[in-house]
Amino acid sequence: MERVIGIDLGTTNSCVSVFEGDQPAVISNRGGYKTTPSVVAVTEAGKRLVGHIAKRQAITNAENTVYAAKRLIGRKWSSPQVKNAVLTSSYAINEGPHGDVRIRLRDKTYSVPEISSIVLQEMKIIAEDYLGEPVRKAVITVPAYFNDNQRQATKDAGTIAGLDVIRIINEPTAAALAYGYGKDLDRTVAVYDLGGGTFDVSILEIGSSGVFKVISTTGDTFLGGEDFDARIIDWLVSGFQREHTIDLRQDRMALQRLRDAAEKAKCELSSVKETEINLPFIISTGRNEALHLQRTLTRDTLEKLTDDLVERTVEICRQALEDARLHVDDIEDVILVGGMTRMPAVQTSVAAFFGREPNKSVHPDEVVAVGAAIQGAALVQEKKDMILLDVTPHALGIMTFGSNFEELIPQNTTVPTSRAKIFTTSRDDQTAVKILVMQGESRQAADNEMLGEFILTGLRRAPKGHVEIEVTFEINTDGIVSVAAKDLDTGQAQSIQVTASSGLTQDEIKAMMAGAKDYMVERRADEEFEGVKQEAETLIAEIERLFPEIERVVGTADFGRDAIAKARSAVDRARGAMKDRDPNAVRLQVEQLQRTQRMFKGVVARG
Ligand code: AMP
Repeated sequence: MERVIGIDLGTTNSCVSVFEGDQPAVISNRGGYKTTPSVVAVTEAGKRLVGHIAKRQAITNAENTVYAAKRLIGRKWSSPQVKNAVLTSSYAINEGPHGDVRIRLRDKTYSVPEISSIVLQEMKIIAEDYLGEPVRKAVITVPAYFNDNQRQATKDAGTIAGLDVIRIINEPTAAALAYGYGKDLDRTVAVYDLGGGTFDVSILEIGSSGVFKVISTTGDTFLGGEDFDARIIDWLVSGFQREHTIDLRQDRMALQRLRDAAEKAKCELSSVKETEINLPFIISTGRNEALHLQRTLTRDTLEKLTDDLVERTVEICRQALEDARLHVDDIEDVILVGGMTRMPAVQTSVAAFFGREPNKSVHPDEVVAVGAAIQGAALVQEKKDMILLDVTPHALGIMTFGSNFEELIPQNTTVPTSRAKIFTTSRDDQTAVKILVMQGESRQAADNEMLGEFILTGLRRAPKGHVEIEVTFEINTDGIVSVAAKDLDTGQAQSIQVTASSGLTQDEIKAMMAGAKDYMVERRADEEFEGVKQEAETLIAEIERLFPEIERVVGTADFGRDAIAKARSAVDRARGAMKDRDPNAVRLQVEQLQRTQRMFKGVVARG
């Protein structure tokens, strides 16, 4: 049975899990951590870094380090969220060829799915290292509130990473799966998921027969831990401005240091009442004088700075209950997901709203990946004892006359679902009909998310109103939208041309996949080189340690001098090969070094 990995592709951190035997396991990366920062960087030497090592160098290489790419995925250049990110990010965000977003790192421009694919590829490698076999199939999670463009872009990221994304599932749903799996529960639960960049809440019914049915889901894809960090940064920056009349935001390096310090302080304040923020030499005054930043932040102050953010999440919970037509008393358990739910003020607000202490049985950082692995295993093993019924987070519809939005599939409809609509020609001999498909809750088309412009082409020539085309709008189990059309008279399928989508073209995806493959070849070669290099270095150290002893024992004899000279030249050659980064040459030298080491050890033993 082919293995499927479950990947929680987070804004701040990502996590990978796989089913082993009958239990899901969370896989640690090489550093021993179960989560990996979703950070990608390119060094001055052009080397690509991912995860912890990318995060560690973020301060000194801020312009070429991408964090929180998930906030940009599937978004249009013109969206307010992107405008905001352009102002606050330390890396350069530009407009792409399809009205999409591109990120510049050193001399190369990347699409957002490409950046996310680098993180996904890392998660794939972590799983492969652990399992000792190649992995292809994956279930990837997305915030429940993601629209079609964001889901499609996430799927594209998986494809670029060389993964076969067999399902996209919603994060809160995955959390509920992990919570309820194998427990024979029968209850209504709320999943409150506050991560680094997004907030989601879902209400689910878990049935004892293994049915997980989502009743409603809602959220905000621009509300998360980073907004809490931003409040602390604002507080620090304005304090500094008052004291020194210097705007720290103008300095990218200072801003990156502030960002790190703010996040650290926020996390600390989840367990202590106050913390010291200390950033020596934060900026220079230009008069050869460096200024320091030092302030104490208390939990109380943090709570005051962020209480409206917490309140916004509670409002969204209220909305989710309303959408589900339920009362707080109907909720029998509250599951907390996401690193931000460790903040005490978040926990007390959630407890106060739902009138019950949240459940603490699941691990907030790992539960989503675990749920994805459970779903992955269920899909390949075709487990019939577990059924997942999710809903579409946004209404699907089309733009009609007067820029109005005509809803075809309402929000919170169980997916997969489809809806057909008949379009007729409005002019004689009309050969094409344009349909604008969008997602959203507003009656004004302009307020909703445009998914694409579908043009039915090559229609039969006939008097107006005589050609009737049935267009079927479908949302699949991934929450991804597709459109199909057929001529009702002839029964012929009608071709559809999609334009104005902000996603990547198939050709672009193919080219990026090739790039990702090249990177893997390079990376494996790199790892191979590092392996033999380490072996060579250990041998050289051992041989050099033995030199004085060998010289003492055989140094005066001719053969002894000869052996020492040979050994020295073997060491030099090995060093040269290491400098050239040539794994085959190093491997050859390793063999020579091993022979030398054996001989030396023999001499020492006899001497
Ligand atoms: P996630 O996307 O679930 O990995 O959540 C990451 C977010 O949780 C980031 O904004 C972190 O700063 C935040 N976070 C992690 N640990 C804590 C903590 N102990 N207290 C408060 N926030 C935290």
